[in-house]
Amino acid sequence: MSETPLNPFEQAQAGRPTGPLVRGYEVIIGFETHAQLSTQSKIFSRASTAFGAEPNTQACAVDLALPGTLPVMNRGAVERAIEFGLAVNATIAPSSVFARKNYFYPDLPKGYQISQYEIPVVQGGEVSFYLPSTGAGQAALEKKTVRLVRAHLEEDAGKSLHEDFIGQSGIDLNRAGTPLLEIVTEPDMRSTAEAVAYAKELHKTVTWIGICDGNMQEGSFRCDANVSVRKPGQPLGTRREIKNLNSFKFMQQAIDYEIRWQIDEIEDGRAIQQATVLFDPDSGETRAMRTKEDAADYRYFPDPDLPPLVVAPEWVERVRGDMAELPRVMAARFVADYGLPEYDATTLTQSKAMAAYFEAAARTSGQAKLASNWVMGEVSRRLNLEDIGIDAAPVQPAQLGALIARIADGTVSNSAARQVFEILWTEDRADVDAIIEAKGLKQMNDTGALEKIIDEVIAANPDNVAQFKAGKDKAFNALVGQAMKASKGKGNPQQVNELLRKKLQ
Ligand code: ADP
Ligand code: MG
Repeated sequence: MSETPLNPFEQAQAGRPTGPLVRGYEVIIGFETHAQLSTQSKIFSRASTAFGAEPNTQACAVDLALPGTLPVMNRGAVERAIEFGLAVNATIAPSSVFARKNYFYPDLPKGYQISQYEIPVVQGGEVSFYLPSTGAGQAALEKKTVRLVRAHLEEDAGKSLHEDFIGQSGIDLNRAGTPLLEIVTEPDMRSTAEAVAYAKELHKTVTWIGICDGNMQEGSFRCDANVSVRKPGQPLGTRREIKNLNSFKFMQQAIDYEIRWQIDEIEDGRAIQQATVLFDPDSGETRAMRTKEDAADYRYFPDPDLPPLVVAPEWVERVRGDMAELPRVMAARFVADYGLPEYDATTLTQSKAMAAYFEAAARTSGQAKLASNWVMGEVSRRLNLEDIGIDAAPVQPAQLGALIARIADGTVSNSAARQVFEILWTEDRADVDAIIEAKGLKQMNDTGALEKIIDEVIAANPDNVAQFKAGKDKAFNALVGQAMKASKGKGNPQQVNELLRKKLQ
């Protein structure tokens, strides 16, 4: 009866469905993300956290734990952790504990890092997002939920500089003591796409609530991806941890490479060793940095310099009351108030700016679904094309709203509206009605004029007419196309359809 007890990660996977297979293997991914909190000063001192200062000008005695100094908790950092916990539906621990994580490294002159270990401030929670589903070739979307284990407060270490030095390294301690929230997931992700989508959703969450600036180049949001593979039904495989992924593109490349590498190793009869690896963007490969230490190696113990972190329920409620509407709450409101499909609501709440743009266009036009279609369609397409954010869109939401109102009241067709949109986007003209007038884009609702066009099309296309009468639907569509063309896109398509059918009967 001596079965080894399952570790907590293993237990949490019990009963979860098998993910898509890669060469017969199931991929398992869990994330640890370090989000730098957007406080002005460090987590336990008053030194500045500003990025890019001269080396070693922003590390004070407390950050270095010089004898006689004592750390003092930064209230703002705790508040940001609470905000995060509320945003992901987690439990905020009424009392949590800071611990010393002991290790030697040149950029850690203290010899330990202050972190939280056994009792973190944020416990549980989840992050949900949509992913194109892999099933049956259908363009459907699947909702995915990744469970969080915890999010804990800790201080960052300094930085070792290798680039500008020959035969030696520099040490910059400005980053020492910068507040971090480390967010740890269950190994719930089952593909690279799911992992990247999780990271993007998490990034959106922390920037939306404003606890982190999300700047990945500057290292404000960095992800460690733990990857393992297994044959379906087997216990979890041994993981390797890819450290410090600081772009979504590298993240995808690194995880894809790692999956291939691990399967190759196993297929060649070698066992995977637990390790910490780095991704090299130049070679596109991951390479082992060190074999992984176990928690026991760090000799964690409660930091005697810091009392337990007590968060009273009133504090949590005060923070909750001050928080802006969360993306998922806003999405639910879009469904309830505007009758949008859940997919639209989720897509539109990808950023605060996009949500605000949609709401303004929906309000001006009174046509929420059309506004949603345009923002997710034409507007997003142009933004992607020009690689700009919605803040920089040359078409104001009120203008889009005015245009949508003209589609809704039948003044312009969809294709004419796209022409107006193009003009609004590229030219310095603001008035939708003036553009419609000047370009002669008014939809032809005048039956007489349309009938004349249709008579001409019928007369000019005897072959299509004959084919239609022989039962070929395609021929009918060709005639509709001809009539629309003859009307210069101004014919009301539905009306053209009806008139044509009547005349051919
Ligand atoms: P450490 O700090 O030692 O990496 P943590 O417990 O903080 O340990 O984090 C472990 C991370 O590894 C979690 O994100 C978890 O989801 C993930 N993980 C654990 N086991 C596996 C596994 N077999 N395969 C992939 N990821 C795993
Ligand atoms: Mg780790």
